[in-house]
Amino acid sequence: GSGRAHLKVQGLSAGYGAFLVLRDLSLEVRPGLTVVLGPNGAGKTTLLKAINGLIGRQGWITLDGEDLPEKTDQIVRAGVALVAEGRQLFPQMTVRENLELGGWLLGRDERERRLAQAFHDFPKLRERADQLAGTMSGGEQQMVAVARAMMSAPRLLMLDEPSLGLAPKMVDELLTMARRIADAGTTVLMVEQNVKKALAVADRGYVLERGALVACGPAALLARSSVVREAYLGAA
Ligand code: ATP
Repeated sequence: GSGRAHLKVQGLSAGYGAFLVLRDLSLEVRPGLTVVLGPNGAGKTTLLKAINGLIGRQGWITLDGEDLPEKTDQIVRAGVALVAEGRQLFPQMTVRENLELGGWLLGRDERERRLAQAFHDFPKLRERADQLAGTMSGGEQQMVAVARAMMSAPRLLMLDEPSLGLAPKMVDELLTMARRIADAGTTVLMVEQNVKKALAVADRGYVLERGALVACGPAALLARSSVVREAYLGAA
């Protein structure tokens, strides 16, 4: 993708049935790596789902100044990809087959080209191309899920808690991968529970509590802010 995508969310409300989780939320996802922090139930996943069209929403979302469509398949075509929590790979299919499915939008030649690119960008997956996804470790599966999302050459990649349940070394690897993807020109929006590590790799961050923003700013500043230090870094 010819990246540097910029997402703007204005007055976003979304929830489940009559239960509104997000109320009148406004934020910007600039090129680079943006992290969304917050306690369980704050609405972080709900935000990603609303952007991705998986739940209904009210409010305005634009990607590079263009209204984002409301249906997921059109949102994907507009260049937005989501790696949902839990990865949702096809466990009985190989790594290669999972990646090919990520390129469902593409013609055959383009899909092959992207697949070669994916194996170049994720060399560990090339070694495992014929392994069944369900037999891989949690970290490896997360890597497949990210590579699969990248098959559609998104302009905006959204990652929902990519490091969930992973060993510290894999957490570092996944966060480094997110950083690399952002550096290569795909805008990344990531929800993370590993606050310290996430702020160390991110450019900017938002802190969400009970569906509302309580802090935002450059990651380095957020890491030093009292709201983040007291609530998330265990320092007064
Ligand atoms: P977590 O870190 O636990 O995933 P989160 O910040 O991502 O937290 P959300 O998953 O967005 O939080 O949930 C926000 C609120 O919406 C919670 O109160 C949750 O119980 C509720 N919620 C989430 N999914 C549904 C659903 N499918 N139906 C009804 N309520 C839901």
